[in-house]
Amino acid sequence: MNTELVTRPRTLERKVQGRAVMEGAGVKINRALTQSLQQRLDPFLMLDAFKSDDPQDYLAGFPEHPHRGFETVTYMIAGKMRHKDSAGHEGLLENGGVQWMTAASGVIHSEMPEQENGRMEGFQLWLNLPATEKMSAPWYKDFKTVPSVTTDAGVAVHVIAGQSHGTSGLVEKAATQALYLDLHLPAGSEFTQAIPAGHNAFIYVYRGDVEIEGSAVASEQLAIFANDANSDGIRIQSPAASRVLLFAGQPLQEPIVQYGPFVMNSQAEISQAVADFRAGKLGAL
Ligand code: MN
Repeated sequence: MNTELVTRPRTLERKVQGRAVMEGAGVKINRALTQSLQQRLDPFLMLDAFKSDDPQDYLAGFPEHPHRGFETVTYMIAGKMRHKDSAGHEGLLENGGVQWMTAASGVIHSEMPEQENGRMEGFQLWLNLPATEKMSAPWYKDFKTVPSVTTDAGVAVHVIAGQSHGTSGLVEKAATQALYLDLHLPAGSEFTQAIPAGHNAFIYVYRGDVEIEGSAVASEQLAIFANDANSDGIRIQSPAASRVLLFAGQPLQEPIVQYGPFVMNSQAEISQAVADFRAGKLGAL
């Protein structure tokens, strides 16, 4: 079925301007989803956008560092990035590819650019794991292409996770039911997506501007949809051509304790993660 029937779209709760941060060994990033939104946007923990034509902004890359307790999803629009991790995985991410890494009980990895000039553009999402899966074995997969479908309104929908318009994404997660779409909207088009009322949902606009129920959302802004109890989905209108990432998921409703690259449910688990990392139990590259 190539439709998503939505008769009561959610309203816009608020817009959030990203914050410029330096990460890794000195990579300039727009942190769209910051730590202060982790409860509100549960199960999503972080969204970083990176885009630059200046090698000085990205050449330093992300040398080896640990993770435990969640998943990282990296989506590369332009450029090349090589991944290596302590679980023995290695891959080159480029040209619309996706890397899904379930850090779970822990990995040490590096994410380094394999280009010396030109544009690098992409996104990294941190998606939480339920308490029952935080200490599971790590998992990793590279995807060279993303399944896509074009709606009757001409919107190209790239389905990274979840399902849209009858098309299944690369990954489906039982606990969080994460939906992750990259939408390419032509001028004058509209996009609808059915989303359960209890799921948290937001967009990040990365080209052009869009409208949500009459409110404009500009490029490089994140917009949170209200969890209207009677709503059955979302609607995005695009007066001019735009590109938008849409995220939705079922909240885990568990305590979130983050210390840098570790996201667990308690301070004791964080202390254990730090101790395990220092003792070399997360392995080595
Ligand atoms: Mn990392």
